[in-house]
Amino acid sequence: MSLVRKRVLVTGGAGFLGSHLCERLLADGHDVLCVDNYFTGRKTNIAHLFSSPYFETLRHDVTFPLYVEVDEIYNLACPASPIHYQFDPVQTTKTSVVGAINMLGLAKRVKARVFQASTSEVYGDPTVHPQTEDYRGNVNPLGPRACYDEGKRAAETLFFDYHRQHRTRIKVVRIFNTYGPRMHPNDGRVVSNFIVQALRGEPITLYGDGSQTRAFCFVTDMVEAFVRMMGTGDEVTGPVNVGNPHEIAVRGLAETIIRLTNSKSTIEYRPLPQDDPTQRCPDISLARALLDWQPTVALEDGLERTISYFAKLLSTEK
Ligand code: NAD
Ligand code: UDP
Ligand code: UDP
Repeated sequence: MSLVRKRVLVTGGAGFLGSHLCERLLADGHDVLCVDNYFTGRKTNIAHLFSSPYFETLRHDVTFPLYVEVDEIYNLACPASPIHYQFDPVQTTKTSVVGAINMLGLAKRVKARVFQASTSEVYGDPTVHPQTEDYRGNVNPLGPRACYDEGKRAAETLFFDYHRQHRTRIKVVRIFNTYGPRMHPNDGRVVSNFIVQALRGEPITLYGDGSQTRAFCFVTDMVEAFVRMMGTGDEVTGPVNVGNPHEIAVRGLAETIIRLTNSKSTIEYRPLPQDDPTQRCPDISLARALLDWQPTVALEDGLERTISYFAKLLSTEK
């Protein structure tokens, strides 16, 4: 428990990462305002928090101004899965860019610290491996992922310009693939897709030949990194990579999930989506040094916990 109860705004608080963050901040003794337009977030993700007098929700779209008095802002609002961020790409860019302007304007007015959930997608299809923060990336500005990638890149620019121009206290993290309970079962991301397919005994949809790599971080480890980043001194602005450096081919992930669920599902090969990065893995040396942080949950342990969540969710759907 913290000695000082801070007023903390979490945008995107009803989403996957946001709901875990709200839960953690309440447990730490803070007063939490969750702002969400429920595009991909769900009230069921935060329903268990409604009984706390220190938890408040507001249905609001961050592309519109927001006037509240808070001490800290975690800006997580933005659809994160390719099918959701490509559903209305113009709104995705607006959410990242106009949302960042509004949250920075708010932070400037109330002198709050402001945290930005940036992404490993700022590196695009990386030619440097593993990715370090000084790598400037390889993003196609015209492709179907650009609304997300370029939106997040522009948001980083805005954060650093507010910092230079207005001395706004910023905290930028670049999040690598994160998974765990409360991922949306239909959001199309690989871990949720494979687990739901395996539990239902449906074919596992593997895009490409499955040799593309990712590195998956369990949600509780990620939230720990967020809180540590917010707690750093004003001189720490980021960007800091946060993720689990355990790299695995997507085909290997499919096989692991089939084994852990004891599933009879077969693997069905589908075309690789355009601009799908061929490799991705964070170099987390900076996070280790600045935050004294590294992931603690091994992939199979995290997958077991996520499988239990989806098994329960699917059983209530029947
Ligand atoms: P999510 O889709 O579960 O959560 C995003 C939340 O933002 C949802 O609750 C959604 O309703 C809300 N939202 C979207 N547009 C909004 C708007 N205009 N106004 C208000 N609320 C809005 O996704 P997530 O995985 O929890 O991601 C949270 C953040 O972390 C995102 O900014 C995402 O880009 C970033 N991120 C996540 C990952 C990951 O692997 N999960 C990786 C990199 C970056
Ligand atoms: N803003 C907000 N809440 C606040 C303060 C500002 O949503 O508490 C918005 C405001 O509407 C503006 C944006 O943040 O569009 C940027 O604010 P800033 O003060 O930096 O710029 P300006 O208002 O001068 O354009
Ligand atoms: N992927 C897959 N089958 C699926 C969903 C995703 O093979 O049903 C692949 C996808 O092509 C990508 C990787 O898994 O190479 C991670 O995809 P995700 O959408 O989870 O995240 P991102 O591409 O943003 O890292």
